[in-house]
Amino acid sequence: MHDAALDAFADRWLDADLYRLRRAARDLYVRALRGGIYYAAASAVFVMTIEPVRELPWFAWISPIAYLVLALLRYLNKVPEGSTESDDYRRWRFRHWLVIDAGCVLWSGHMIAAGLLSQGYSVTLTVGLLCCFAYNSAICHAFAMNRRAAYLALTLLSLPPIIAFAFFIHDGLPIAIGLAVQGSYAMAMLDRASKDYATQISNEHALLLSRAETERLVRTDVLTGLSNRREYEHRWEQAWHMAARQGGDLALLVIDLDYFKQINDTYGHAAGDACLRHFAQILSQQFRRAGDLCARIGGEEFAVILSGISAFEAAKLGRDFSDALIKSPCPYRDQIISITASIGAGAADWDQDPDPAATFARIDQACYEAKKQGRSRLVAV
Ligand code: GH3
Ligand code: MG
Ligand code: MG
Repeated sequence: MHDAALDAFADRWLDADLYRLRRAARDLYVRALRGGIYYAAASAVFVMTIEPVRELPWFAWISPIAYLVLALLRYLNKVPEGSTESDDYRRWRFRHWLVIDAGCVLWSGHMIAAGLLSQGYSVTLTVGLLCCFAYNSAICHAFAMNRRAAYLALTLLSLPPIIAFAFFIHDGLPIAIGLAVQGSYAMAMLDRASKDYATQISNEHALLLSRAETERLVRTDVLTGLSNRREYEHRWEQAWHMAARQGGDLALLVIDLDYFKQINDTYGHAAGDACLRHFAQILSQQFRRAGDLCARIGGEEFAVILSGISAFEAAKLGRDFSDALIKSPCPYRDQIISITASIGAGAADWDQDPDPAATFARIDQACYEAKKQGRSRLVAV
């Protein structure tokens, strides 16, 4: 799971705002989907309790049908999963809440209609009220990711019936008070649930960040910031097998600094470290295409994987690098330390190399050959 596309995918969720929006959108979608089905079922039960059921006018069935349509809209309004634009999620959220709010308004209409029709107690009104309490609780617990939108939904669900029962329905005041008590309790619960949700998401995000950092550290060489040997081996195997399948070009440079022990002995270990960092900087400046990977595979040994590059091109790139290195000695305190390197360059030979290790061994041997020939040079195979 280490390819660049996957890294980029993980990186974009490191943005806290985007992560929160996407996570909340996913939760809202899944939870609202269930709610939509409950509404449609409850509305059918509500209609069937109206007495006498056989004489119901046809338009009474508009309500369950409307809820089925709303449930379908909840289903069809899919989260823009792959998007990295915060505004896409905000627009999606707006659309989804419109559908949820429409359901709330419709249900508050149910309760008012039941109150007006029965002008007192009825089974229909009881169903309406019980479902209203259930929806209030569901909104404050399940939709706490968008606190303000959930407040609005609670208000749309409860306030119109509260007003209707308090002022326009005979003997409706106790019901209005009951609705107001339950509604205000739901709002208080919503406040707490939304804080809990925010804490959960921020903990989750912190965990994600620390995991990404750990994964980065596991793959990185601490001194130079290049890939380490472990990452190099993984990527080399991966690139080799992929190129072997496609019969494509895959080149490798193996680089060993010359007389590095002398640098340490002459200027000190700290100067040696500075030279390694300086060298790594030039290396990564020189090889920065998407298909390149620069790694420190030993103390003063480096490798560069060049995907899609032939042996001939790799030798040329290696020589260019060698020239750049000679032109940029390492400044350390008030000294200038010259660095040279011996380089082995080559490409995978699909007829000759049975595995990634065989290709590496040939090119590593070329590096050794460069040492033998006097250092500060490149040997191509
Ligand atoms: P050659 O030209 O044959 O490659 O000679 P060399 O001195 O570069 O090679 P040798 O293998 O004899 O020595 C490598 C030296 O690199 C020895 C070791 O102390 C030094 N070295 C390895 N890792 C580090 C490091 O992280 N920091 C520093 N400062 N030196 C290191
Ligand atoms: Mg060495
Ligand atoms: Mg060396």
